[in-house]
Amino acid sequence: MTSAASLIDTHCHIDLYPSPEKVVAEAEAAGIRTIAVTNAPSVFFHTKALAQGLTFVRAAVGLHPELVRTHGGEVEKIAMLLDETRYVGEIGLDYVTPDKQEQRRQQEVFAKILEYCAAYGDKVLTVHTRRSATDAIAAIGDHFPGKVILHWFSGSAKDLRTAIGYGMYFSVNPAMIRSKNGQALIAEMPKDRVLTETDGPFVKVGKEPARPPHVADAVAHLATVWQVSPDEARAVVANNLERAVGVF
Ligand code: MN
Repeated sequence: MTSAASLIDTHCHIDLYPSPEKVVAEAEAAGIRTIAVTNAPSVFFHTKALAQGLTFVRAAVGLHPELVRTHGGEVEKIAMLLDETRYVGEIGLDYVTPDKQEQRRQQEVFAKILEYCAAYGDKVLTVHTRRSATDAIAAIGDHFPGKVILHWFSGSAKDLRTAIGYGMYFSVNPAMIRSKNGQALIAEMPKDRVLTETDGPFVKVGKEPARPPHVADAVAHLATVWQVSPDEARAVVANNLERAVGVF
């Protein structure tokens, strides 16, 4: 190997840092392929402008499940914004709310977004599945026309097997590698389905919000699990992104 492969951050909330421009510039300068997810259609263009003209940063259009209660009415805007980007997230389901009606509303919104995306056939989705993995995976289903990355997966071993069977990818972050459950799930993920993410600024590394370079922590953990060098683990993850996405 002559030079180290690119690092990958498939789920970073660039727009939620105090200085998004600095985070973007750092990722670009370091050549870290970064998917800048957004939580509502109304903030997409802000992130799109930040990523404009960059080689390594892509803006994603999203509608976070926890914002469906207040922003669910924006779902139709997603249909329009899908012409602007191939990347979609953060989307998904979050059942931390015990409110069944809110869960149903999330399911409706998620189903609509999946339907919009399926019509394109080449979208790359970064999906939130907290306490909802069974339903979220079932909603996407087998043979989804596009690529699906389950972000910060914390579902059951059974859900993990289903998602693997459906051809889904998994993005691993520095918080997952610190938790016993996260470690156990990572160990069961096929090596060719693993990507890395920070979920910054929500995930912290030390006292700091994680930034794209911190995916190196996840890579180091993967190297240990796979019993390869960190450079090799980094190359595996880069190859996985290339296989999933083609030209980034
Ligand atoms: Mn997130």
